[in-house]
Amino acid sequence: MLHSKPREDNYLHKGLRKQLVQTLREKGIKDERVLSAIEAIPRHFFLDPAFERIAYEDRAFPITANQTISQPYTVAYQTQLLEIKKFDKVLEIGTGSAYQACVLAEMGATVYSIERQRALYDFVGQFFFIKNYPNIKRFYGDGYLGLPTYAPFDKVIVTAAAPYVPPKLIEQLKPGGIAVIPVGDDNGQKMLRITKDAAGNIKEEELGDFMFVPMLQGKNK
Ligand code: SAH
Repeated sequence: MLHSKPREDNYLHKGLRKQLVQTLREKGIKDERVLSAIEAIPRHFFLDPAFERIAYEDRAFPITANQTISQPYTVAYQTQLLEIKKFDKVLEIGTGSAYQACVLAEMGATVYSIERQRALYDFVGQFFFIKNYPNIKRFYGDGYLGLPTYAPFDKVIVTAAAPYVPPKLIEQLKPGGIAVIPVGDDNGQKMLRITKDAAGNIKEEELGDFMFVPMLQGKNK
């Protein structure tokens, strides 16, 4: 997975991707720009060649360092909630395989993505496909802190289960901005959509149930 050498994306992969997009439509994803980005990105590039077919099933999959590439439905759901516009500045917590970051970048966002695991951060740096997206800026660090130097952001997405809404991430959100954060524990999480209005007031909506790997404190070497 995440090979440094380019891999093939043939008609079979493209066909499986069309089917995946159809499944996501049936599950209620309506944002055509999200669906086009998923159709454009070869998800099998993010997995081992042995799993080329499974890559297009709507399920999460283990990657390196005990982490997962999120289920396509989850990626689509979170991205749809963010109402991404071209040139949006998006802060992502949990780069993982960088699949979610590529979906956002494909939609024209500038992505600032933080990963706390050094091995995973380095691994993604070697991945040939990431080089297609100069609009993804990657950082090794602790997502609880956000990126004060680059703040404020139009959108914030957390792709790990947060035990609470990290206050710094909401501070770093622009007025008019949207944050999408799964909050809960190992037993499950609720997706929260947090909006900040022009006056800086915060509104929280509780949406569906999800299951992510935990958002951990601090960096890991
Ligand atoms: N967005 C990813 C899915 C990531 S899984 C994808 O598309 O593949 C969650 C990731 O969050 C893991 O890689 C994990 O190491 C990372 N993570 C957990 N806690 C974190 C923190 N405090 N800061 C940054 N990354 C964190």
